[in-house]
Amino acid sequence: MRVGSAWVGPHERDTIDVIDPSSGHLIANVPVATPEDAQRALEAAHQAQPGWAARTPVERGSYLRRVGELVRADADRLARLISQEEGKPLREARVEIEGWTAGFFDYFTSFARAAHGELLPSDNRDEEIAIRKVPYGVCVGITPWNFPSAMVARKVAPALMAGNTIVVKPSSTTPLSALALAAIFEEAGLPPGVVSVLTGPGGTLGDALVRNPITQLVTLTGSVGAGEKIAAGAAQNLAAVSLELGGKAPFIVMDDVDIDSAARHALTVRFQNNGQVCTCNERTYVHRRVFDEFVDRYVSLARQLRLGDPLHDTTDLGPKVTQEELAKVERMVATARSEGAEILTGGRRAQVPGFEGGFWYEPTVLVAARNDLEIMQQEIFGPVSPVMAFDDIDHALDLANDSKYGLSAYLFCDDAHTVRRFVAECDFGELYVNKIGPEQLNGHHTGYRLSGILGDDGTYGFEKYSRRRTTYTSWRTATAADLMPFTA
Ligand code: NAD
Repeated sequence: MRVGSAWVGPHERDTIDVIDPSSGHLIANVPVATPEDAQRALEAAHQAQPGWAARTPVERGSYLRRVGELVRADADRLARLISQEEGKPLREARVEIEGWTAGFFDYFTSFARAAHGELLPSDNRDEEIAIRKVPYGVCVGITPWNFPSAMVARKVAPALMAGNTIVVKPSSTTPLSALALAAIFEEAGLPPGVVSVLTGPGGTLGDALVRNPITQLVTLTGSVGAGEKIAAGAAQNLAAVSLELGGKAPFIVMDDVDIDSAARHALTVRFQNNGQVCTCNERTYVHRRVFDEFVDRYVSLARQLRLGDPLHDTTDLGPKVTQEELAKVERMVATARSEGAEILTGGRRAQVPGFEGGFWYEPTVLVAARNDLEIMQQEIFGPVSPVMAFDDIDHALDLANDSKYGLSAYLFCDDAHTVRRFVAECDFGELYVNKIGPEQLNGHHTGYRLSGILGDDGTYGFEKYSRRRTTYTSWRTATAADLMPFTA
């Protein structure tokens, strides 16, 4: 791991095993950062920050551009690393590297000449009020396993562009991609302390970073449970928090669309990255008039998905990321079955020849009769797709909004009035109409309710890395008459 300007190996430290989920084999060990490592990294970030912020935005942007170039130059190796530690099919891992990781570094350079403040008229003569954007100082970025490279870039690039320094703590399940980026940050010539990458458990290392008084802003992408703990920990020093958390996206199919096309879109956005994306289609609602036709097509497409070696270009679905995640999905399907859901395909662990020790699950489609089943309410984050019928758009919107999550939602529909109702009444932060994601760099990725606080990407995502400083300036010397009698 990289602590300030030093690379720290696993000697004299506990270690974390990194497992290839396709085979269950050990592929690496990484050190567990000690409390002293955490303190050293934060102090290095604190020391480096004024010098980093003193560079012009264009200078900071040139470092970011260099990082993007180095990521692209090494795209094949970095994509393979994602596939090995996460099980993501290589085709998707390449997009994560070239589209997202390099993309975030490219995109945030576009703010180099975009910073601006405000100059306001004062109530008093010969005075003005200036409001500037200034960096927070030291940020802590905490990232999940499902995009082990892109989520690091999503935090680091805007934080640095705004003049902050940052300590990153990646998921212990997939730390290798973040460490590969740490080496690229060094190669790009980022000054010591500007970015540290520390490995270790969330509950100890992550918590220590969050609670440290040096930390001024915590930015997490992860689960609701981690978000709640981090918000509570950050409250100790009243550090700012930004939380991108779980999702339970509804996917609504009306009766006036091409059913084959809707089924293909629903399938792609359910089974990409093996269902492990916060914007995945977690519950498909289909108009009763076309329900049977849709389900027939959907099941037939799901049966065609190819499980296999994540490093092969023909693979559609890799393994689940860990044994625990596999067991969670298995348990959720068993509960759905016991609650009356009908399994149409899948519903078991999968056997993949040559990968007997891996964490494989069959692509699964089931019909749910009620919205209060656990599988319709809790995030599945796996290759399991519950489908349910609705009667009209009122019913569909009620079902969609009946959720403690509020990240993304999808509508497939050919009627402008219904689309308008969806946009006005579907209470989610990111809506897709007649298309699926992914979201774009200049959009704004934000979840309501338990899906988070604030958001990432675009101008709004960039602005959260700055705070405001207000300066009141007088252009004349105050006279005695301006001041209170006892100060005259
Ligand atoms: P997780 O919450 O288990 O872990 C995320 C990170 O938080 C890890 O680095 C972990 O070590 C750390 N962490 C956990 N507890 C902590 C604590 N008490 N203090 C400090 N750090 C702590 O999530 P995961 O399983 O790695 O990722 C999957 C989750 O992430 C899903 O719920 C998914 O929806 C969500 N996610 C959300 C988005 C989004 O943009 N909204 C994107 C990707 C993933």
